[in-house]
Amino acid sequence: MNKRGHVPLRMCIGCRSRRKKEEMIRLVRTLEGLVPADGKAWSGRGFYLCPGSECLRKAQKKNLIGPVVRMEATRISAIDWAKVGGGLQ
Ligand SMILES: [Zn+2]
Repeated sequence: MNKRGHVPLRMCIGCRSRRKKEEMIRLVRTLEGLVPADGKAWSGRGFYLCPGSECLRKAQKKNLIGPVVRMEATRISAIDWAKVGGGLQ
């Protein structure tokens, strides 16, 4: 049975387009900073990004990440984005 019309959608904070959450990358705030959720059920604050580095760059440029995860911009800019966004290329 396929329940049509009931696909949970998540919004990308970079381009604000909505996609199925399986198609997106979720990043969560942990004590060590932002990390990819990798399907784990983290309880911290998180956000979704399209699988493409363009949306990450857009989100960084417009300073959209800080308010969502409640982190200071300076801490966010210190994050190793190459590591975090390993799946974003
Ligand atoms: Zn996007």
